[in-house]
Amino acid sequence: MMNKKNVVHSSVVEAATVEALERRGVKLEAIAEIVYEMQVPYNTDLTMESCLDSVKNVLKKRELQHAILVGIELDELCEQGKLSEPLQEIVESDEGLFGVDETIALGAVFTYGSIAVTTFGHLDKNKIGIINELDTKKGKGVNTFLDDLVASIAASAASRIAHRSRDEEEAIESLED
Ligand code: MG
Repeated sequence: MMNKKNVVHSSVVEAATVEALERRGVKLEAIAEIVYEMQVPYNTDLTMESCLDSVKNVLKKRELQHAILVGIELDELCEQGKLSEPLQEIVESDEGLFGVDETIALGAVFTYGSIAVTTFGHLDKNKIGIINELDTKKGKGVNTFLDDLVASIAASAASRIAHRSRDEEEAIESLED
């Protein structure tokens, strides 16, 4: 029989995730601004509060928490020169063909469906707001994983809003019927 391993409570993982983002200079409000920009064309009543609320909600998902913790850990270990070569050099130089940073971040958005996947692709290409700041901060620390992780949080939160606003419209329609 397998021993039951110690299970880390989700609240501990969630707190560690938010703390890691803060430590790396990423404010949840900055992610909410990207969400707003992505969703306001489809929802003119959208508020910044609801975008921030959506960001906080997607950060409760383990898929995202785990990806964020792994990615930030690797960025920080790389900053400290603790990865082994040649990985140290590849992550430090944010080599274009590396791709594992995008793969981890993309894998974390699947739970929010195809809108999250296409929004992630858009953000990966167009690097909006804080994603661009992180991407252009080269030379000042390592954010190889972080820019993609922020895109995955924003894409998930945007998709969540898209689905919820459709649900709300349909609920109103069925009341009117
Ligand atoms: Mg990257």
